Amino acid sequence: MREEDRQKIETLAEALNGAERILIGAGAGLSAAAGLSYFDEEVFKTWFPALLKEGYRCQYNLVGFGDEDWSLGRKWAYWATHVHYVREVFPSAPLYHELLALLQGRDWFVVTSNADRQFFRAGFPMERVFEYQGSYDNMGCSVPCGHHTWNSLEPLARAREFIDPETFTCAPEGIPRCPVCGAPAEMCFRPENYAEGRDRYVDFVNGSEGKRLVLVELGVGFNTPGVIRWPFERICRALPEARLFRVNRGYLDYPGHKGYPTVPPELGDRATAIDCDAAEVIMALRDM
Ligand SMILES: [Zn+2]
Repeated sequence: MREEDRQKIETLAEALNGAERILIGAGAGLSAAAGLSYFDEEVFKTWFPALLKEGYRCQYNLVGFGDEDWSLGRKWAYWATHVHYVREVFPSAPLYHELLALLQGRDWFVVTSNADRQFFRAGFPMERVFEYQGSYDNMGCSVPCGHHTWNSLEPLARAREFIDPETFTCAPEGIPRCPVCGAPAEMCFRPENYAEGRDRYVDFVNGSEGKRLVLVELGVGFNTPGVIRWPFERICRALPEARLFRVNRGYLDYPGHKGYPTVPPELGDRATAIDCDAAEVIMALRDM
């Protein structure tokens, strides 16, 4: 680690020690640092061999696959396999447990764009975690005939039994359906109680006025900057006691997916950019 980065992490450690409140913003870079990377080509070869032949290289090529001209059967073969890998094959990552240990005894809240449920699986009290983009555990009606959502894991496990490995397509009888109207389901990342989580997040931010709030971004890039990155800058700007630490490193092998660990100059010394992997920072904080 560069000396410059080590000093910045020491500054972060001091800020956390003196903080009255800690707000963590977690993006895909945190899970990537924990080993769950949608850029992993070896994982792709193992779980999606039929798609490899079609020119796809990694899950990131497909994770927001609305642009793909796929049949319903292909779409569900993909979701059933992708979510199975993320939720059930990949373990609860030790890095998330380390992060939880760092927060023990503190007044904290987490907002995350990750749908992978790593916070839930590591035992974070979920009333202190807001999954801004919902999670892979939720399914809804494609019509939709109502606002109901339901757990996706069982229907997806059933769908996997109907996947033809040659064509990587789920047979019609395996396609998850709405329990009310029978229409095909939709991966519906936001659960029915989404608004409650959002309100808890807003309350935490509003209640931080006049307090020493430390905002820590872990692995948040420019994929969906409106979810965490820009709001964190605005919160820091609005609350004079707040400090922002932006921890991110780019996916150097994938041009266009740099981490851009920069902070707005107008925040002055209240904002610090740390050009490191989230795992390096969390482990360094643990050992300080
Ligand atoms: Zn329905």
